[in-house]
Amino acid sequence: MLRKRQAKIVATLGPSSSTFEMIESLFLEGADVFRLNFSHGSHEVHAQNYQYIREVEDKHKTLIGVLMDLQGPKIRVGKFENEKILLEAGQKFILDLQDKDGDQTRVTLPHPELFAAMKEGATLLLDDGKLKLTILEIHEDQIITQVEVGGELSNRKGVNIPDVLLPISALTEKDRVDLAFGLSLGVDCVALSFVQSPEDVMVARGIIGNRAKIISKLEKPLAIEHLEDIVNLSDGVMVARGDLGVEMPIQYVPSIQKRIIHLCRNVGKPVIVATQMLESMIQVPTPTRAEASDVATAVYDGADAVMLSAESASGSYPIEAVGMMDKIIQATEEDPYARVMWDAHKASAEIMEVDSVVFAAREIANLSDSLGIATFTASGRTVLRVVRERPYCPIFGLTQYDQIARFMTLLWGVRPALVDGIQNLDHMVEIACDAVKDILPGKNGQIVIMAGVPFGDAGPPNILRLVQI
Ligand code: PEP
Repeated sequence: MLRKRQAKIVATLGPSSSTFEMIESLFLEGADVFRLNFSHGSHEVHAQNYQYIREVEDKHKTLIGVLMDLQGPKIRVGKFENEKILLEAGQKFILDLQDKDGDQTRVTLPHPELFAAMKEGATLLLDDGKLKLTILEIHEDQIITQVEVGGELSNRKGVNIPDVLLPISALTEKDRVDLAFGLSLGVDCVALSFVQSPEDVMVARGIIGNRAKIISKLEKPLAIEHLEDIVNLSDGVMVARGDLGVEMPIQYVPSIQKRIIHLCRNVGKPVIVATQMLESMIQVPTPTRAEASDVATAVYDGADAVMLSAESASGSYPIEAVGMMDKIIQATEEDPYARVMWDAHKASAEIMEVDSVVFAAREIANLSDSLGIATFTASGRTVLRVVRERPYCPIFGLTQYDQIARFMTLLWGVRPALVDGIQNLDHMVEIACDAVKDILPGKNGQIVIMAGVPFGDAGPPNILRLVQI
């Protein structure tokens, strides 16, 4: 399936989209990567969806990325005697460790490890930030708060505590079990929720090793404080605007989004912009003008991918949402101003031994109007450096490794292909030409081939070869 766009689409699977037919339709409409959201759904359902994705791959002789998204340490209040209560601004409200249902005056906060870390004056945001409490007093087993913004509070609603470094790892017990399960399925990327520090990424790396790529979700103010380090330690990031917009004043979300995209482009890491992109398409078949503009803005800014959450997971129009995203991306990329924007953010060389060859490949491909740059890669690293250049032509990412090939489905402008190991120069040309002929059947023109010798070593690229197809 040849896409007519460079930015990619990540579609979340859920009750509206968990059949082979739906997954195939979403792929045909434009989904490049599927997200399995482990905050919801059983292992059986995720395993079945994973199987369907691989069957769609086989049927369409293509590559599809699978991103598992771990729930992370989502903090929630306990339950209420009558399911819900109404909190009034100005009243006192207690969060405690008692093992009993809550009422108008108190509720359980079943996370004892948090009590010692709390600070007087800190803010607690409940139910996606709809309710706001300020901490007045902290005791060993209870936190007394004042309600600043009231409203209805029902069973198990989420709690965000933006001002406090929480003494909890980004990987809970549930996450560790889910992670082992996802890795055993063979997911290509793992998204870590509520990353607070570079150490959170290192802990996950220690468990995951190189079995999958790590995508850190940026949704905590503390993660933004450590942005550079977290980006450097991760294989990619997600601007998780849902929780980010709760943890930070919402007016800062757009500038943080731009800052993250810009940084990722500079260092050559992929970035996904997520949440509420086509939110109204959960219920109606067309988005608002503002939503269309939001998707376009992410594309102009140079995001690698844009993501659908409830739109494709539980909405009424999953196929239409993917199709609409595809159309918006295409229309935006056809605008000459998109190219002006991408070139304006062109980063200078950093890793000279790689970037000098990559720069040359881009220039040659541009000047000779090439069909594309065929880049051999073992780890994906060289392809990431080519993506960073935002060349005018497609990037053919050629690798022997399934997981690297599928990771590349997420990258701006990359058409990945699985190829054999190179034996010699003639073999390199043959493999590259065959792969490009498969991706662009019937096309004639020149390609620029980039590889590194000695073949088989994960060294920097040091060969550029121009070949006519
Ligand atoms: C988000 O918060 O924007 C996000 C993508 O995470 P989740 O869907 O897990 O809440």
